[in-house]
Amino acid sequence: LEPKEEFHNKTLAVDVMRPRRSDPSLSALRESGMTVEDVERLISDTTYSGFPVVITQESQILVGFVLRKDLVISLENARRYQNGVVSVSAVLFTECDPASSANALPAVKLRSILDLSPFTVTVHTPMEIVVDIFRKLGLRQCLVTQNGRLLGIITKKDILKHMAQMANRDPDSILFN
Ligand code: ADP
Repeated sequence: LEPKEEFHNKTLAVDVMRPRRSDPSLSALRESGMTVEDVERLISDTTYSGFPVVITQESQILVGFVLRKDLVISLENARRYQNGVVSVSAVLFTECDPASSANALPAVKLRSILDLSPFTVTVHTPMEIVVDIFRKLGLRQCLVTQNGRLLGIITKKDILKHMAQMANRDPDSILFN
């Protein structure tokens, strides 16, 4: 992915990130307060490769990023091997479980599959820099924030599509190295 001239006209992260203004909002998970069936529903209702995890829906403060495939495996394993896990069991990405007590339903604890330092840029970051970071760090996706709140996501494919649009070319014709 070469930093092309098309980015020199100051395309910003906000111009490339998803969701677009007309799209449904970002599919994120909350670090606590969701159940196994909530998360399973999100997985079956979407095809995204990953989900940001936020503290609360209202705050949109980023906690980390979880890959869909890790989430699927962990929930399957919890259902199969963890005693007492049912549809209404809590899914927790938090460090400890303050609500847990001896007679509470066991929670599915998923902090270990969370990437706690997903790469983020702000909405104002020039795409030229975003592309450079993708190339140098070999990123698949990067999250976009504004004033500390999670606002969007940019995947490698989003960048390729955007470049193709700019160059009016087929995305597959642009090589990503
Ligand atoms: P790819 O871009 O490689 O197809 P995904 O399937 O993860 O990867 O994403 C498909 C599209 O949805 C991309 O445009 C991406 O920006 C967007 N996207 C990815 N994850 C999410 C998410 N959790 N919520 C909303 N949109 C997302």
